[in-house]
Amino acid sequence: AKEAGGNQLVEFDQSYSEDAGMLLGMETELRNAIGEKELMVYYQPKVDSRTGRIEGAEALARWDNKERGMVPPGIFIPLAEESGLIVPLEQHIIYTVCEQVGEWNRNGTFTGRVSINISLNTLLQEEFLGYVTSLMKTFEVPAELLEFEITERLVMKQEEYVNRVLQKLRTLGVTVSIDDFGTGYSSLSYLHKLHVDSLKMDRSFTLQLETDPGVAAAIMSMAENLGLSIIAEGVETIEQVHHLQKLGCHSIQGYYYSRPLNPVDFEGYMSTREVI
Ligand code: C2E
Ligand code: CA
Ligand code: CA
Ligand code: CA
Repeated sequence: AKEAGGNQLVEFDQSYSEDAGMLLGMETELRNAIGEKELMVYYQPKVDSRTGRIEGAEALARWDNKERGMVPPGIFIPLAEESGLIVPLEQHIIYTVCEQVGEWNRNGTFTGRVSINISLNTLLQEEFLGYVTSLMKTFEVPAELLEFEITERLVMKQEEYVNRVLQKLRTLGVTVSIDDFGTGYSSLSYLHKLHVDSLKMDRSFTLQLETDPGVAAAIMSMAENLGLSIIAEGVETIEQVHHLQKLGCHSIQGYYYSRPLNPVDFEGYMSTREVI
């Protein structure tokens, strides 16, 4: 049933999750979309709020289904995870991003770091590191232009193995960021052992900046104590930018600067700004 006054995304969500037959159909369509033009990557800028410079971008999967239109990642990523499609899907995303980053780097369009979201399944694949290494070679991607984002909750599973893979990534020169940070209850001692470079403060804390800036402040000082850099996500207003600046957090991602953009629009956005 539709909730009165619910937004479009909620209605979309419910109409799909209530219909098992439709989900099954979608699974087949998703399987077919992988490797095709339907499955795309959008890029959302990460900005240094002091200079306005774009220091990097996050790669976000997009599925433009012929009949259904844009299917939100909040729908198809869980579907992919449940149906075992997440590994081929993310392989496709990693491939697409490496190809794009190599091209941007060679022609000087964009030389910031691009982060890719990965699931536990992908990280646990024996071929994962080899796959990334070979794509970096094929597409001439310097390691410092790649980052992987893994959610805090995910990293806490299979801790030892995951940490070893993260360490190897960093040996290659690829950086690692903990996504949705602050929602997974990691302890300080646990984080201390983890081979990561930065924390991505979950959007829920950005939303609390006005009413409860102490929470964000605690997360910032935690990052500082651990020697990790921090980026705030879901930043939509100038007030939030100001709050974050006061707290010393200058790396910002959110609609305030830009929505995720397709590669052509991202290039257009880049050309209007300076890059580090
Ligand atoms: P996420 O990794 O936390 O990505 C940030 C999400 O917040 C993105 O939603 C982005 O479009 C959205 N966002 C960015 N700025 C703002 C803002 O100012 N306000 C608000 N309200 N939202 C903002 P998106 O693209 O719909 O992706 C949703 C989630 O789907 C991602 O959350 C990520 O967990 C997952 N996802 C997307 N692509 C991939 C992928 O290739 N692999 C995996 N494993 N997950 C992915
Ligand atoms: Ca992310
Ligand atoms: Ca996030
Ligand atoms: Ca999230």
